[in-house]
Amino acid sequence: MKINVHAGHNPDGKIACGAVGLIKESTEARKVKKEVIRLLRKKGHKVYDCTCTNGTSQTDVLKRIVTKCNKHKVDLDISIHFNCGVGDKKGNGKTTGTEVYVYSEKSAAKPAAERVVEEIAALGFKNRGVKIRTDLYVLRRTNSPAMLIECCFVDDKDDVKLYDAKKMAAAIVDGINSQKK
Ligand SMILES: [Zn+2]
Repeated sequence: MKINVHAGHNPDGKIACGAVGLIKESTEARKVKKEVIRLLRKKGHKVYDCTCTNGTSQTDVLKRIVTKCNKHKVDLDISIHFNCGVGDKKGNGKTTGTEVYVYSEKSAAKPAAERVVEEIAALGFKNRGVKIRTDLYVLRRTNSPAMLIECCFVDDKDDVKLYDAKKMAAAIVDGINSQKK
């Protein structure tokens, strides 16, 4: 397959660098992205890194990412993010978990998105499932089938404790590669 992969947001320390909780979204998404690309290439896929490092605003970051994505006609666009908003800084013994977004029920990326969320959940994260999001720029504007992965929550101690960049990346790649009968 041909696959575009990018980490969401600008790098840490720059404008529009994403969510910050117990860990930083931008940094972790880049670690996962790097390993996802390495593993996909090892499996023989042609992979393009569409990560943006120099956007001037949140809108500009998104535009730059989508411009890079749309330079290649691919089988899948993979956007790697981390979620936030739960504020469980002490840990309640339960993860808030993982979810994956696609643009529509009919998206060609939906079957792969379902496998990805199942593989991440198999690491122990609560499975929040595949959700339809028509409001996200990256899903709306990319030409190829796209999924946006919210690996886990940066502001949930239980998620952060369980999270490991290499295992997260391996789960994503297993999801992309696995063929359901
Ligand atoms: Zn994000």
